[in-house]
Amino acid sequence: DPDVLDLLDGVCAHLGRHMERRRAEELALELARVKDELVGMVSHELRNPLSAIRSYSETLLDDPALTGEQRHLAEVIDRRSTHMQHLVDDLLDLARLEAGQMSIDPQPLSAARLIRETVQAQRPAAEAKQLTVTVDAPRHLPVLADPVRLRQVLDNLVSNAVKYTPEGGAVTVTARLTGDVVIEVADTGIGVPPGEHHRLFDRFFRASNAVRKGTKGTGLGLAITKAIVDAHGGHISAAPAATAGSVFTVVLPASHD
Ligand code: ADP
Repeated sequence: DPDVLDLLDGVCAHLGRHMERRRAEELALELARVKDELVGMVSHELRNPLSAIRSYSETLLDDPALTGEQRHLAEVIDRRSTHMQHLVDDLLDLARLEAGQMSIDPQPLSAARLIRETVQAQRPAAEAKQLTVTVDAPRHLPVLADPVRLRQVLDNLVSNAVKYTPEGGAVTVTARLTGDVVIEVADTGIGVPPGEHHRLFDRFFRASNAVRKGTKGTGLGLAITKAIVDAHGGHISAAPAATAGSVFTVVLPASHD
C-alpha cells in the first residue's frame, strides 16, 4: 500500500531527525564538559608557577640595593603577575562553581553587617573619586548564606559600582526583608547600553561602553557572582537605574532562626 509506505517513510525521516538532534545534544554536553575540564586544568597548572613568580618578585622588591630601573622592572613583574593570578583564581572559581564542585556552606548571617564591612573596604577607592556612598539597611537582616561567598558577591557589585561611576557620582546599597532578603546596589555611573543587560552575567562579556572607555576588567566577576547567587537558590538581575547608571538586585533566602 503506497500510503503505508509514505507513512513509514515519514516515520523514518522523523526518527532520523530525532536521533540526529539527540546526538547533537549529547555532543554539545560533552563539549561543555571537556571545555570546563580544560579551563580547570589550565588554571591549576598556571597557579603554582604564578605564585612562584609573585613571591620571587616580592623578594626582589625587598632588596634595597636595586637600581631605579631594576625596581621598575620588578614592579611591573609583580603587578602583571598579580593581575594574572586574580584572573586564574576567577577562572578556577567559575569552573568549580559551574561543575557544582564549590562547597557552599550557608549559615545564618547578618547581611547588614556584611554590607557595611564591604562598603567600608571600598571607601578608599570611592573617596579617591569623590563618590558619595550610602548604605540603607535595617540592622536586623538575617540571611542564609555562605559568609565568604556572600562577601565575594557584595565585593563584586560594590567595586563595580565604584569602578563604573565617574568622579562625583553616588553609590547606594539598599537592603530589606520582604520574606526574602533583597539587596540592591545602585549607582549613577555609565550604565549599560540598551540591549546588553541580558549578557552581563555571561563569562568574559564586557559592555561596549565599558570597553570604549578603556576601564580595565575581565568580564568574569558578574559570571561568578551569578553562579554564587544561583548556588544559594537566589536570584540576581540588572536594570537601568531610575535616572542614570545601573542597579543590581540580589535576592537571597532569609534565615528564620
Ligand atoms: P569586569 O571585570 O569587566 O568589571 P564584570 O563581570 O564584573 O567584569 O562585569 C561585566 C560587565 O558588566 C562590565 O565589563 C561592564 O561592562 C558591566 N558592568 C558591571 N557593573 C556595572 C556597573 N555598575 N555599571 C555599568 N556597567 C557595569
